[in-house]
Amino acid sequence: MSDDGWVGDLMGDERDPRSGQRADVPVVAVLGGGQLGRMLGLAAIPLGVACRFLDPVAGAPAAAVGPLVVGALDDPAALAATADGATVVTYEWEGVPAAGARTLAAHTPVHPRWEVLEVAQDRAAEKTLFRRLGIDAPTAVAITDRADLDAALIGTGTPAVLKTCRGGYDGKGQQVIHDPIDADAAFTALGGDDDVPLILEAWVPFDREVSVIAARGRDGDVRCFPLVENTHRDGILRVTRAPAPGLDPALQADAEELARRILDEFDYVGVLAVELFQVGDRLLANEIAPRVHNSGHWTIEGAETSQFEQHLRAVLGLPLGSPAARGHVAMLNAIGALPPADAVLAVPGARLHDYGKEPRPGRKVGHVTVVAATAHDLDDRLARLLAIAPGTLG
Ligand code: AMP
Repeated sequence: MSDDGWVGDLMGDERDPRSGQRADVPVVAVLGGGQLGRMLGLAAIPLGVACRFLDPVAGAPAAAVGPLVVGALDDPAALAATADGATVVTYEWEGVPAAGARTLAAHTPVHPRWEVLEVAQDRAAEKTLFRRLGIDAPTAVAITDRADLDAALIGTGTPAVLKTCRGGYDGKGQQVIHDPIDADAAFTALGGDDDVPLILEAWVPFDREVSVIAARGRDGDVRCFPLVENTHRDGILRVTRAPAPGLDPALQADAEELARRILDEFDYVGVLAVELFQVGDRLLANEIAPRVHNSGHWTIEGAETSQFEQHLRAVLGLPLGSPAARGHVAMLNAIGALPPADAVLAVPGARLHDYGKEPRPGRKVGHVTVVAATAHDLDDRLARLLAIAPGTLG
């Protein structure tokens, strides 16, 4: 790392010392440098685009694919250094403080708009958005004190899910209340006694969890990838199947319509993920992520255009690509440890993605995608992959 905090080699006078690229190459400044940033950076290379990242950790996964500014995501100097001379600013984490993105927007285009961060960071604001746009969502009640919770539980019944409005991810920051006598413990466990804002949601007896990944270009063009089916364990995504098995075109149309409403509301530019519960032929919105999303990793090998390239195309004002699937696809997350590469790569159609992270329990350290021409072949290959490292792969 050089004295001024830059990581990466300087490549000669005719090159930008920060991007390491020719000075005329478009630079996308990415707030966050995790695996999503790394995959954005990889997708940028064939487009002749450079990504520059901001992350608090020097060895963050994106450091392998572009220069990394090491600093806090709310540090004005680090934000300014990351955005300096960039064509556009974007993010790969929805926890990016909105104030910083807003400040940068005064000088450099920021896509998606910083306002959407404020909504995505607050479950109560998300529910308000869904209601305003006429999008079905679980019944939800904001909880500010202990008495609110008892009153709300009468409305929702049990089971119900108590969640922190902010900061929850991968199933963290939530407690299932199976019986009203659990209310005290759930309220205390989530910080209700310390005035942490909470929200109580009615339990949704869903048939399955699905998500739609949509992209909107600068010209308002919207493209949606096929709905995918997501399987979670311990609150963490384990397996995505794309397209969702048995996908009804009417359900796809409903998903595209609700995604379009959100995109248009924010004059959104970039990729947006909407996580949904499917109940019969209805979709209920759970949450939004204004970024590329884990349930879209399958698109790298499994779609005509990957979600990462689609996001770059959108924020750079390039035409969007086809979101069509290239067959039957599954994505398995590697949680806590990577599976042995030789076993994974022996499965036809399987590809391994190693994020370069230190293994740690519960941490997403990589994923495997497998593509097949038929649903039968996919089932077969998926079964082989699931048997490789039970508990960590899928
Ligand atoms: P979330 O952090 O909101 O995505 O929730 C994590 C997981 O908890 C979801 O993927 C669901 O499996 C489950 N979950 C969350 N909210 C509900 C709900 N209202 N009803 C049923 N399951 C839920």
